[in-house]
Amino acid sequence: MRKTKKYCYGFCVFTSIIINILFTINLYFGGGGGGGGGGCGLSWSEKAAAEAEAVAAISCSGHGRAYLDGSVDSDGRPVCECYACHVGIDCSQLSPGCAADADSGDPIFLEPFWMQHPTNSAILVSGWHRMSYGYNDKSYMSVELENYIRKLHSIVGNAITEDRYIVFGIGSSQLLNAAVYALSSETSSSPSNVVASIPFYPMYRTQTVFFNSKNFQFQGDTKAWQLNNSTNMDVVEFVTSPNNPDGELKKSVLGGKTIYDHAYFWPHFTPVPAPSDQDLMLFTLSKLTGHAGSRFGWAVIKDKDVYEKMLAYIKVADLGISKDTQLRVLKLLKVVVEDEGKTFFKFAYNKMKDRWDALTSVFSKSTRFSIQHRHPLQCTFFNETRLASPAYAWVKCEREEEDDCKAVLEAANIIGRAGSMFSDKDRHVRLSLIKSQDDFDLLLQRLTELVSLENGSIQTM
Ligand code: PMP
Repeated sequence: MRKTKKYCYGFCVFTSIIINILFTINLYFGGGGGGGGGGCGLSWSEKAAAEAEAVAAISCSGHGRAYLDGSVDSDGRPVCECYACHVGIDCSQLSPGCAADADSGDPIFLEPFWMQHPTNSAILVSGWHRMSYGYNDKSYMSVELENYIRKLHSIVGNAITEDRYIVFGIGSSQLLNAAVYALSSETSSSPSNVVASIPFYPMYRTQTVFFNSKNFQFQGDTKAWQLNNSTNMDVVEFVTSPNNPDGELKKSVLGGKTIYDHAYFWPHFTPVPAPSDQDLMLFTLSKLTGHAGSRFGWAVIKDKDVYEKMLAYIKVADLGISKDTQLRVLKLLKVVVEDEGKTFFKFAYNKMKDRWDALTSVFSKSTRFSIQHRHPLQCTFFNETRLASPAYAWVKCEREEEDDCKAVLEAANIIGRAGSMFSDKDRHVRLSLIKSQDDFDLLLQRLTELVSLENGSIQTM
């Protein structure tokens, strides 16, 4: 009887262990929720993953992309959205005589990097992912993402973030005005004066005028303002370093309240001589990883009051930044910081360097056009002296009579952005070097043809 009891007890313990093991296997590797999962133990994510891979596999001859949220054919299947100058169902046909469009700063030049790193950069979002307005700590910002931003700056060595506050924005565009708002005086009887050094990024003026506040007004060029006004007036100075459009590493002229726009302060565009330690610094994902579409930027701020005012601005304007975007940015930054940033920044720098090498070779044969001078500097990230490789070429028409350089280039089927857009003379025109490889190749071809005309012989590329 005793023996039977003992056997029965042993059998029960054994069965219970087996059942527990089966339960655990089912929990972690089994199909957890009505999705009918299969391989790899995935259930609900399999369909989404398959859809994402299927659309990404549509090659569009390498001259376009298909998207899950893009156009569809009559059967509801995604179709190719062709890049400029390419047409046809698979974007394989070149439209003859198409203009080389170097106008916008769309940073597609990094698309090949992300296509080469698909596994670590993809995200999959459940239908119930972070539906709340806020995170658990009631904030609008992911603490983990903030940690990665600090880690990124410390790896790159381009900004001090210790004992600094960070605020996220919908692109750095949103933070430009948040910063102006936070630095402007609310108590003074006259509005704060907002200035920037010519040539400057036009959005500073556009936003300041558009938001039309009684607390701030745009006053144009910093030096011109300084000449005509007393120094004890309230001023907020935009310092764009490296500058858009000419790539110069700029410093403050007035030395008072500044907004350092560091959109391009990354090793692919400029040697990083030392970490920036300014009171208010702005950065954007757009020009770091190329994901302008995700609309994400951040401010690094020394002063607590300024930080709180910027936070308040973001809260009133938008109740924070999309949680989906923050998840994606986190994933992308994890790839950027892999290998201490070497893989990513080497790729990005080499891409820009190759473009600059090709461009300088073309302009070296010209006396009609010149481009900005690039100074060699020690880059602490790459640990060597390098030339800058700015996002834009700032082209000057040298012939006296050619004072509308944009029109001169347009006659050669090249679209640039006129100097007057940057409050400078139209003798200058900006050419974007950060668009797709197709865009850059066409630009180079057209420039080569244009410069060849100077020497009386047309070379083809
Ligand atoms: N600052 C500068 C100097 C820029 O060139 C840009 C984009 N062209 C921005 C800010 C805004 O970037 P985003 O809103 O995409 O972050």
